Amino acid sequence: MSEFHYQRLPWQDAQWRLLQQSLVQGRLPHALLLCGPPGLGKEQFVLGFAQSLLCAQRAHDGLACGICRHCQLFKSGNHPDLQWLKPDVESKSGEITIEAIRSLTASASLTAHSGAYKVIAVQPAHRMNNAAANSLLKTLEEPTPHTVILLLTDQPGRLLPTIHSRCQKVQFLPPDRADAIPWLADKITHEDPDLLLTLANGAPLRALQLDDSELLNARREMLRGFLQLPGGRRDPVSLARGWGGFDRKLLLEWLAGWVIDMIRLKEGVDSGFLFNRDLTQALQKTADKLNSRALHSYLLQVYAARSSVESNLNPQLALENLLISWGDCGTQAS
Ligand SMILES: [Zn+2]
Repeated sequence: MSEFHYQRLPWQDAQWRLLQQSLVQGRLPHALLLCGPPGLGKEQFVLGFAQSLLCAQRAHDGLACGICRHCQLFKSGNHPDLQWLKPDVESKSGEITIEAIRSLTASASLTAHSGAYKVIAVQPAHRMNNAAANSLLKTLEEPTPHTVILLLTDQPGRLLPTIHSRCQKVQFLPPDRADAIPWLADKITHEDPDLLLTLANGAPLRALQLDDSELLNARREMLRGFLQLPGGRRDPVSLARGWGGFDRKLLLEWLAGWVIDMIRLKEGVDSGFLFNRDLTQALQKTADKLNSRALHSYLLQVYAARSSVESNLNPQLALENLLISWGDCGTQAS
């Protein structure tokens, strides 16, 4: 068996079986919208499913053989019947453009080289701008036989309703903790699996990425700086500069988690229910000095920054503003 053989993740079994059943029965939809939070392995799933569609001799459970000519081409990343569209890395806006969609859909109208399926994946689908999404709609309305379009997103709400209505939705959800913890415990080496799973919002692959002592130490250090802002013991602009090179999405997620935990602490929630229960003491100390209304209103600002993080043309300025605003929370009476 090839090492490239797709390893199904246990929490994706239902989705895999559903699609394989449709495939076997000849009623596979021509467009699928695969959605769910990050860290659940949607991309891996699509890779496995695409290979399964292209494979000349898939197994009874739908897994690709890993050895046929199509699997070989797939593994080399050169299968002519698979196209994977992502935003252009050079593009400042981070959008998927109409030109990209047009060239993709033009090739979709050609017959599959293998005579089987043509597979088109768009990831993340919510990064299509309006013109691109409208162009894709035309293809969805007039599907080419044996072309399967797979749209991946963790923000399905940002897709046009008309796209939603023309795709079959495949939803991915975090597994039960009772199943995820043993799966993680086998793979995690540095940190507590339970804490990592909580920090990852229950997404096991994200939890694995967080199994990095250096990263978690950075998190503790960043929280220390963050909590010094409301008392004026730290300059927000220099702190923002110090955080400049850090993964912006992760940073905003942590920020939101810290603020949510402070709100929960003010409400008297037990520390076992916090995202950052290893940092309870520090969070409690600051929460005690702030009022709930300021925390709630600040949380909305973090959410706003988070939702525009991919399209923000001046992310450093946005971060500075966010930290300045947090410093100002300390001037309000508790
Ligand atoms: Zn094969």
